[in-house]
Amino acid sequence: MKTALITGANKSIGFETARQLLRQGYYLYLGCRDIEKGREAVKLLQAENLNQVEPVEIDVDDINSIQAAREVVGNKTNVLDVLINNAGVSGSMPQAPLDTEISLFRHVFETNFFGVITVTQAFVDLLKESPEPRIVNVTSGLGSLTLHNDPEWHYYKVKPTVYVSSKAALNAYTIVLAYELRDTAFKVNAVDPGYTATDFNNHTGPGTIPEAAARVVKAATLGVDGLTGQFFSDDNAPDTGISPW
Ligand code: NAP
Repeated sequence: MKTALITGANKSIGFETARQLLRQGYYLYLGCRDIEKGREAVKLLQAENLNQVEPVEIDVDDINSIQAAREVVGNKTNVLDVLINNAGVSGSMPQAPLDTEISLFRHVFETNFFGVITVTQAFVDLLKESPEPRIVNVTSGLGSLTLHNDPEWHYYKVKPTVYVSSKAALNAYTIVLAYELRDTAFKVNAVDPGYTATDFNNHTGPGTIPEAAARVVKAATLGVDGLTGQFFSDDNAPDTGISPW
């Protein structure tokens, strides 16, 4: 049975991604910064007869919490097949580049960028034990630098500086990590779930959570012929599914 860890999985896209992987027979470590919320989320899944799941407390802003989670998971399994770095924050708005407090940049980068790196480094040894390890970094279409420079782009005027910078940095980490692991069985990709109605944006997005999660699941379950080092985005690239960085 394949195993997966998802951060920020107590609700929204992370939770639905867990549900869809459970339906495919994966064993799920449901990463949640509040273990009580994690237990509640597990109960919801079990009510659907999805039982191969347990909550793991992990606050990606806190290295001690990440290390404790690594120990918990390591006591249960020697192999992790899938890591989904989903936990993310937008930071308060507006985010004008000249007026936004540096403390907000630090806060958002802590979760969206440093958190991903710390979690990945903590769990990579378990992933290396898998014959087909997959790392999915949940990014945003707003992380594309190329498109931010294209006046024809649908979201050209949408430029929340802090969030954009954090996801662009995450994209940079993703492509370099994929390069580092290019001669291995790893597939390392960034996935834009699309603008989706969740708590993240006060439910303003046009996309649905199941659609968003399906995009993440697709990258998490890539076969041996699947691509690595890509920025998957159906929103940015409806034809190819691959966004410019
Ligand atoms: P959401 O509804 O706000 O859920 C975010 C999840 O991340 C929650 O489980 C939250 O936990 C968790 N989280 C936040 N900070 C954390 C931390 N320090 N440690 C551990 N968990 C933490 O957001 P979403 O819409 O599902 O977004 C999921 C991912 O998709 C994010 O990376 C986001 O940037 C990306 N994304 C979303 C959209 C969209 O339109 N929704 C578009 C593009 C990309 P709590 O419940 O404890 O707060």
